[in-house]
Amino acid sequence: MTKAYDVVIVGGGIFGCYAALWLAKHGKRIALIEKEKALFTKASVVNQARLHSGYHYPRSIATAVMSDENKARFTSEHREFINFSFEKYYAIDRYGSFTDARQFERFCDFIDIKCEKVDNHPLFNFSQLDALYLTEEYSFDPILIANHYRSAVQSCNNIHLYESHQVLVAEKQKSTWVIQVEDLQGSEVRCFETPAVINATYCASNAINALFGFDSIPLMHEISEMVFIHSPQFRDIGLTVMDGPFASLMPYGKSGLLSLSSVAYTHHKVSYDDLPAFDCQSKNANCRPEFTSNCNDCMAKPVSAKNKMMAQIRQYLSDMVELHYFSSFYTIKSKLKANAIDDGRPTEIAVLGKNPDFYCLFAGKINSIYEIEKTMIL
Ligand SMILES: Cc1cc2nc3c(=O)[nH]c(=O)nc-3n(C[C@H](O)[C@H](O)[C@H](O)COP(=O)(O)OP(=O)(O)OC[C@H]3O[C@@H](n4cnc5c(N)ncnc54)[C@H](O)[C@@H]3O)c2cc1C
Repeated sequence: MTKAYDVVIVGGGIFGCYAALWLAKHGKRIALIEKEKALFTKASVVNQARLHSGYHYPRSIATAVMSDENKARFTSEHREFINFSFEKYYAIDRYGSFTDARQFERFCDFIDIKCEKVDNHPLFNFSQLDALYLTEEYSFDPILIANHYRSAVQSCNNIHLYESHQVLVAEKQKSTWVIQVEDLQGSEVRCFETPAVINATYCASNAINALFGFDSIPLMHEISEMVFIHSPQFRDIGLTVMDGPFASLMPYGKSGLLSLSSVAYTHHKVSYDDLPAFDCQSKNANCRPEFTSNCNDCMAKPVSAKNKMMAQIRQYLSDMVELHYFSSFYTIKSKLKANAIDDGRPTEIAVLGKNPDFYCLFAGKINSIYEIEKTMIL
């Protein structure tokens, strides 16, 4: 039996879930297909949880400005999931930064964000810093946000959720897509018909585009490790060192843990192919460039770089700061190749097909979920 839906969404991270809820609110009947056993298991939970205010992008004014545009609405609609009560510092590394203190100040002034120079602080090692600034940047809690969206999707009558499912075949028939979807746990095959498909699979964007007969978007991919630590002295403090192969330590929402990332050590493996192709896939029969498995469950995932990352961030901290390792989580981070130089993270929604419609939604940052509303036709 073929089931008819107004929209079929592939991918159940924050972008797929937000699109489903927004379209359902406007009366659409949605099928949401997620290959994992649960929603929110990839980039939407394994990330630094930075509610971007623009500071991070001195080399991409467009991304910096877009961060700020969406921040106010994201903050007001996710207020209970945001940690507002910590001090956030940005610092310029004394050696080898792409930006110097004066440029950073001018950039903050230009996009009108708080940047107060701090000349003394007992928790920082100033011999390694060109300058330290007190800024205003918050952290969202990915786990609380995941719980919120999971229950919103599950309780919405207009959304039929198909977890542990994958698209097998897609065919264009006049003005609809006819899609065969396989239950990965029971191997049952279902058939859906719809006039519109949204591809919200992030690192799998090009695999799903290809299934529907569309070209790739130029992406690169990195197997990334987020390290989680706790620190009695740094619990309510965040530090991001700019601008280049440096590190960032900040509260992971309201969890009491800090997320630690490093431009040099977080990204273990890089794939410049349009699909995420890594040498470790030869050791895991369930993981392929067209259909990656979850790195956290994989025996072939890279060895943790936690010691290197902790040593790197320690350089900027005074001896009184203790850092204790808690855990690491891995995921694939994907970027538009065009942003390799300026480090920008735009969210791009491409309308690849019309009648039947096909949207490829490639997300740069969590707080840009509202871009969906600008592009989707109701
Ligand atoms: C290491 C890292 C740090 C980051 N830090 C920040 C930050 O501090 N602040 C910020 O705003 N953003 C950050 N980001 C970016 C942000 O996390 C992503 O832009 C966002 O989570 C993407 O959401 P999504 O829903 O598109 O992707 P995802 O959350 O990855 O969801 C995609 C879903 O599609 C599913 N899927 C894949 N293939 C298939 C298939 N064939 N069939 C069905 N389902 C499929 C996946 O299982 C997954 O659930 C970071 C990202 C990473 C990786």
